Amino acid sequence: MLNKKSVDDINVKGKKVLVRCDFNVPLQDGKITDENRLVAALPTIKKLIADGGKVILCSHLGKPKGEPKPELSLAPVAERMAELLGQPVKFAADTNVVGENAKAAVEAMKDGEVVLLENTRYRAEETKNGEAFSKELASLCEVFVNDAFGTAHRAHCSNVGVTEYVDTAVVGYLMQKEIDFLGNAVNNPERPFVAILGGSKVSSKISVIDNLLEKVDTLIIGGGMAFTFLAAKGYAIGDSLFEEDYVQYAKDMMAKAESKGKKLLIPVDTMAADKFDNAANTKVVTDEEGLEAGWLGLDIGPKTAELYADAVKEAKTVVWNGPMGCFEMSNFAAGTIAVAKAMAEIDATTIIGGGDSAAAANQLGFADKMTHISTGGGASLEFLEGKDLPGVVAANDK
Ligand code: AMP
Repeated sequence: MLNKKSVDDINVKGKKVLVRCDFNVPLQDGKITDENRLVAALPTIKKLIADGGKVILCSHLGKPKGEPKPELSLAPVAERMAELLGQPVKFAADTNVVGENAKAAVEAMKDGEVVLLENTRYRAEETKNGEAFSKELASLCEVFVNDAFGTAHRAHCSNVGVTEYVDTAVVGYLMQKEIDFLGNAVNNPERPFVAILGGSKVSSKISVIDNLLEKVDTLIIGGGMAFTFLAAKGYAIGDSLFEEDYVQYAKDMMAKAESKGKKLLIPVDTMAADKFDNAANTKVVTDEEGLEAGWLGLDIGPKTAELYADAVKEAKTVVWNGPMGCFEMSNFAAGTIAVAKAMAEIDATTIIGGGDSAAAANQLGFADKMTHISTGGGASLEFLEGKDLPGVVAANDK
């Protein structure tokens, strides 16, 4: 259990409560195309409303790089949150976030009312954890709640700096849930514990591989990063993704797995393509056959998919981060589908660490079969690396 004070440990009646949410949702032509993060924020917000708090919401959206960008305004989120909450959400449209609109709106609030501030990243200080903006945010409230798991691996004004200038800083239900699910899975798993890592690069998952090899029974490697492992074993990988600087690391990890008696699975065959295109010519090649120049691996092959699905089926705990291939192209999605399907079918704790794998599970229709899908790709990855998350550390201890 997370040893931080939560919204259950405070009294917010009549108090101004600033809640850092993760409303960083995808937008297309001003419309929200995936509202999972909004829905995930509701339990904390509803609790604070029910307890009679004056609920001031804030979040970043996209990367406006310290300037007001109208297409990254949180206005559409205010509208949708009002519908989801079934009550008005007043939008304070200040391009400097804590401006005259925000101050006036907060002053006028009655208990149980909700205000949303403008995109915190309209302010350049936000991502530098600057003092002035942290103080401005703190000046709006008496209590601070951090429920933005998706940003917890960053130390910014709106999740870390602000806590220095308020007496009470606690975490919300979403933050608690994310840390509890990921923490239990990794540190107290029912065994066998299988972790699946995919995605493009070894270099971005290096610490995760290292940390998880200590904890799992089986580590499955797929995606573009598998080719550095295959190259390390001496197989020909053609023009597949390859990080020469990580060949020795791949060798070390395979040796570490062996010495610790852990299974580290790498592909036995590959779906090869003659170009990076869904309409490419394709063929399945075994490791021994290898890939010639002019061919690149864009998915795990069918034998590998079966091998990985079988390993997943034996598990009692599965943590998955990163697709097995270029699943965005339908002809290279089979490996990712096989893994997601195996996870969906088993009676086990199944956790998806956000980002692309969460998108894949949603897109493929397996989302509601999983125990937990994290709302934070980067944050869950850093958690899986065994790192402390600054956004969590900053909250008051129990
Ligand atoms: P990451 O951001 O590192 O988690 O990587 C996710 C991306 O890796 C997705 O966009 C996939 O299309 C891509 N990917 C997965 N497998 C491969 C592969 N074999 N070759 C190139 N890219 C891949």
